[in-house]
Amino acid sequence: MVARVIPVEPFELVIFGGTGDLARRKILPSLYRRMKVGQMPPEARVIGAARGKMTRKAFQALVQEALSEFVAEADQTEADIQRFVEACDFVTLDALGTGGWAELGKKLRPDVTRAFYLSVGPSLFGPLAQRLSERGLVTPESRIVVEKPLGHDLASARALNKELSTPFDERQIYRIDHYLGKETVQNLMALRFANALFEPLWNARHVDHVQITVAESIGVAGRGSYYDKSGAMRDMVQNHLMQLLCLTAMEPPARFDPDAVRDEKLKVIRALDPVAPGNTVRGQYRANGVDGSYLDHVGNPDSRTESFVAIRADISNWRWAGAPFYLRTGKRLRTRMSEIAIVFKDVPHSIFPEVDEKRGNALVIRLQPDEGITLRMTIKDPGPGGMRLTEVPLDMTFADALEGQEVADAYERLIMDVIRGNQTLFMRGDEVEAAWAWTDGILAGWEAGSARPSPYDAGGSGPEDALLLLHRDGRRWREIEG
Ligand code: NAD
Repeated sequence: MVARVIPVEPFELVIFGGTGDLARRKILPSLYRRMKVGQMPPEARVIGAARGKMTRKAFQALVQEALSEFVAEADQTEADIQRFVEACDFVTLDALGTGGWAELGKKLRPDVTRAFYLSVGPSLFGPLAQRLSERGLVTPESRIVVEKPLGHDLASARALNKELSTPFDERQIYRIDHYLGKETVQNLMALRFANALFEPLWNARHVDHVQITVAESIGVAGRGSYYDKSGAMRDMVQNHLMQLLCLTAMEPPARFDPDAVRDEKLKVIRALDPVAPGNTVRGQYRANGVDGSYLDHVGNPDSRTESFVAIRADISNWRWAGAPFYLRTGKRLRTRMSEIAIVFKDVPHSIFPEVDEKRGNALVIRLQPDEGITLRMTIKDPGPGGMRLTEVPLDMTFADALEGQEVADAYERLIMDVIRGNQTLFMRGDEVEAAWAWTDGILAGWEAGSARPSPYDAGGSGPEDALLLLHRDGRRWREIEG
């Protein structure tokens, strides 16, 4: 099966922070892969902008190095790399200074779609937006791209929205949550809205509860000082888990267009009940033979920042009242794994008296590893000896189902959507603010109390309290396993 490639118009993508980690690991390799499949027109250009003094040649060498490090070897051909590198240019420019702007202005062509990707720290988002405007570089067709952290709380998110929306219209602002670019996440929408099978069951009458898990095996060593100011709630729940919750819970939009989809997501966030501290669990990993503890990694023995969080979230609307969403994410857990599990109610009456265990079907949407979808079904245990039941998965791993067709990286899709001007997979300003309003309530509850995060073993599945959060509701978490 060959992927369909929709060509895009010529564009100029300016990457502020073009020499940084995100640019080298994600943005440049994604653009290269799009060029390889024919989606980058010959006139398209990528202009790196960063404050380090650098020539065009030196930047091109950096791009070449990034491609050889972060693009699969099979996709690296000399001719393609050369073609991509030739499309790259560089301007030395300090976001807070005056030099370099005129040079950047001269490099941009007036008749070509312009995208400014701010791959720099969030404190530079506002100043860069302002300077782009002051220097007259914002055309009606220009786009600006930003990525988390989009604020630290509701007040700072509002301030950031204001800074961005002074020079740019909302239709020009692309707030990336790269989870929305994942193939499986979009498949969640296809599964729900392109198949008649599940939608009639997609509500609290048939769904017992939903579990959303994003588990990471790595700790915070190396980025401890950043992480300690953020924590799992701000770093993961406010954005990624919230987006997964929205796509799982939202009503069918009337059309698959940016505002129709985002209106429905916003309604979900606004229907979330405030969460009492008793419906949350915070954890911090402790050393377990192998590695240091969270407190060692952040170098702060008194830190109360959570490296794990579990939450019972309730959505007060007709579809979901009575079916909670349990969210869980953490660092240094047993394995790296992300999934959404829709756990259906058990049969209303079992005609198999020897079976006493509850066996609701579960639809599991796996984001990683091995993106795919599994439906857990109950069947008869084969063989004679009475009516024993067992569970089997109906499994679809995308890599197998799509016959080896490569699943594109989330950034490839998102960057091309920026160029095409399609905001469906990007967060709107009001959505981000609503998510912060809900998150702030939880953070305030924690701050008001004196409890410390519960310790959990590095390499385990999180604190004991997280198990109890479900046990007390007569439920249990799915295993964290790869
Ligand atoms: P980085 O420190 O590796 O790179 C920062 C870049 O910004 C460099 O090119 C640097 O030259 C440039 N820069 C710094 N100050 C500047 C100034 N005053 N004027 C012009 N250029 C300046 O950082 P990174 O990891 O690439 O992250 C960039 C942003 O993306 C951050 O906000 C980060 O939170 C976010 N982010 C990063 C990742 C990732 O995987 N690295 C993932 C998601 C979000």
